[in-house]
Amino acid sequence: MDETTPAPAPAPAAASPVRAAIDGALLGVTAAPGLAVGKARWFRHAEIVVSEQGQGIAVENERFASAITTLAARLAEQTRHSAGAQKAIVEAHAAMLDDPALRDGTQSQIAAGKSAGHAWRATIRPLADALRAGTDARLAERADDMLDLERQLLAVLEGVETTVPVFPPETILLADDLLPSDILALDRATVIGLCVARGGPTSHVAILAATIGLPALVAVGPALAPLADGTPVILEASEGLMRVDPDADTLVAAQVRLAQAEMRRADMLARAGELCRMADGTRIEAFANLGSIGDARLARDNGAEGSGLLRTEFLFLERESAPSVAEQTADYQAIADALDGRPLIVRLLDIGGDKPAPYLPMDAEENPALGLRGIRVGLAYPQMLEDQVRAILSVRPTGQCRIMVPMIASLDELRAVRAAVDRIAAELDLPDRVPVGVMIETPAAAVTADLIASEAEFLSVGTNDLTQYTLAMDRGNPAVASGIDGLHPAVLRLIAQTCKGGAVHGRWTGVCGGLASEPLAVPILIGLGVTELSCAPAIIPEIKALVATLGMDACRAHATACLACTSAAQVRTLAREFAA
Ligand code: PEP
Ligand code: MG
Repeated sequence: MDETTPAPAPAPAAASPVRAAIDGALLGVTAAPGLAVGKARWFRHAEIVVSEQGQGIAVENERFASAITTLAARLAEQTRHSAGAQKAIVEAHAAMLDDPALRDGTQSQIAAGKSAGHAWRATIRPLADALRAGTDARLAERADDMLDLERQLLAVLEGVETTVPVFPPETILLADDLLPSDILALDRATVIGLCVARGGPTSHVAILAATIGLPALVAVGPALAPLADGTPVILEASEGLMRVDPDADTLVAAQVRLAQAEMRRADMLARAGELCRMADGTRIEAFANLGSIGDARLARDNGAEGSGLLRTEFLFLERESAPSVAEQTADYQAIADALDGRPLIVRLLDIGGDKPAPYLPMDAEENPALGLRGIRVGLAYPQMLEDQVRAILSVRPTGQCRIMVPMIASLDELRAVRAAVDRIAAELDLPDRVPVGVMIETPAAAVTADLIASEAEFLSVGTNDLTQYTLAMDRGNPAVASGIDGLHPAVLRLIAQTCKGGAVHGRWTGVCGGLASEPLAVPILIGLGVTELSCAPAIIPEIKALVATLGMDACRAHATACLACTSAAQVRTLAREFAA
């Protein structure tokens, strides 16, 4: 692919369908693609009523202590029965419950005559509100965890049930905001889609929805608020919109499309076990992105040929101390086992900056996305890096796990990791060289891909971050959510350059960012030279079926035309024409 001699650009396209004004439809940003036809139902956490005045200091202290003990035992029990993202969330709640500042604050309010419930809420709520008021999406998620914990303890104190409400079949859930724990608790038999006023397309909630294949729209804004429970809606998440109270013809047409899509899905699932090949036989690897053992099982059942990205952050975030080597080894081993020997690419920890870990004494940063994050943290805390590498290399059979380094900006960082991996591999007496690849997430890495590929075993483009850094748009900021499009020609040119740089040294280039799960993007990526797609597990059957229809010559010509476009909207117009 030569992006210096592009085909003529197509005529300027109309505005993207995501932002175009459409009568009777609410506009948002796709968090997980798909179509759902059902009735809107609001998901709201009811405020638990507590009396302000206590029944005496001794009584209230006793009630508080007993509620803490009950909730701690409940969380410990949940930890034992959960894994991955779910386990991390429950552990975060348990750690917060242990926080002496929260307990002291509550006890001093009780000493002033307040009830235990009032004292707890008055202590925790202002802290959560302060975190939410900031612009940092990750800290806002931590605030959500605090509110979750506030509710859980009040429920124990007041004897109120906190289970997720039961919704009727074909519910499209509306929410101002959702917590990851809410998504994990949803009944998939009744909830068929999500439409959220806040959030961004790459938040944890969006990643979890895409993982389980639940069509979801985020960043819809205040226009969602007036929608009444029971309103018929058509959620066209792939198109970034939700039709409200459609007329009978539109409803019937959507139901027909849905029935056809479900038949196609059943057919694709039946063939998902076949190896992913293009129509001309060219092999493309169809891998899955994972964050937990549950994801690994889902990926295997959907025909994943391996994992191109295990996000290990869920093991590390919101804990009071880093997980030990033994804990990490057990988690990685369980995921490797669930993949039945298929390759597993484990990404080194990508925390720091906007994904804070309490046990890392890092200063607050004005620009966390440009600060100490990704591999920069691992190099700043060598023991943490060493422990993680040791845990990954302890997984058996040897060779199943490969290592991937996030947020590389220059070759030196890879060299430092390579040296640590080689030293630990020698200590563990491993027979073979451990493959170490890099994520291409910074423009710097993309334009020097030829240099990096001279020492990296593979390259995998993280289009979520590459897009944010190329377009200078914060991926967690709803205000720019509609503009942050990985199909922008600038991002595509960087992917083209990455593939070329990799090919100089015979290295393969994959994509593990959200673009790999977008059917419109797949022919372009393949045409640019990408040979591995690491997708949300639920979409793998669709991606495999799509790849089977594609020819390499057509993909290359299509990609060349896309590189010559002047906007993401133009690329999307071409991509829709190509798919038609
Ligand atoms: C990416 O940036 O595209 C990526 C896959 O990493 P994450 O979304 O975890 O930052
Ligand atoms: Mg990233």
